[in-house]
Amino acid sequence: MKPIPDHAVNRLRVWRKSVSTRPFLARGGSVPRCEACQLRRDWCACHWRPELKAEAGFCLLMYDSEPMKPSNTGRLIADVLPRNTWAYLWSRTEPHAELLALLADPAWQPYVVFPACEKAPARLTEQLLPAPGKRPLFILLDGTWPEARKMFNKSPYLDGLPVLAVRPESLSTYGMRVAPREHQLCTAEVAACVLEVAGEAQAGLGLQLWFNLFSSRYMAGRVNRWPGEEDAALQGALLPFLCRGTENDEKEESTQAEPSAQTG
Ligand SMILES: [Zn+2]
Repeated sequence: MKPIPDHAVNRLRVWRKSVSTRPFLARGGSVPRCEACQLRRDWCACHWRPELKAEAGFCLLMYDSEPMKPSNTGRLIADVLPRNTWAYLWSRTEPHAELLALLADPAWQPYVVFPACEKAPARLTEQLLPAPGKRPLFILLDGTWPEARKMFNKSPYLDGLPVLAVRPESLSTYGMRVAPREHQLCTAEVAACVLEVAGEAQAGLGLQLWFNLFSSRYMAGRVNRWPGEEDAALQGALLPFLCRGTENDEKEESTQAEPSAQTG
């Protein structure tokens, strides 16, 4: 098992747990999980976690207990782009000072990623704006749909920023989706789309594949049935994104037995 990656979402989860007044009872909370990928331990996917490179940055605003949910997918962005990802708990009136500093940093051009902006349609864009010398910083509102809408409407510090609406059906990453769910993409899928909009399709693909593997094993865990062929195909697709090189890694790869299927 690989060590838990040191990134913003994992640090936020540890902190959020430490300030909880009662134990967090996630759905499926009784299953022993890998601390890093949050999948059931015998189906840990950490070995397949890709290491990606991108110019773009991500700033996750996470709603309340979101960092503690094993099903959270904002974490998957930080998994693959640990140096490009920031994560803060959302607050309407007391945003983290670091968050405000990041938004004001001239190195970045922030965008709030959201599908609509009725109160100020002029803020809405479907493409990146010209911003010479600045890297795009995508602010993702990580929670359920009603929570995301609340964060969008009630965060005065986001009010002046451009709003990037992604039309996923026009992007190649859309075809990679595990299963269509209404019209909504989860946070990691939105990030994959946004990377493609930013001209970083390779990184978007790597993230989408990491999400697909996580999602496939997570859903399989619920019905206690190993995904089999689908998993093997995803492993193959992820191979080019893995940074190999140490002998130990090679050994680990060759000795990793296929987890036994348990049906019932
Ligand atoms: Zn794991």
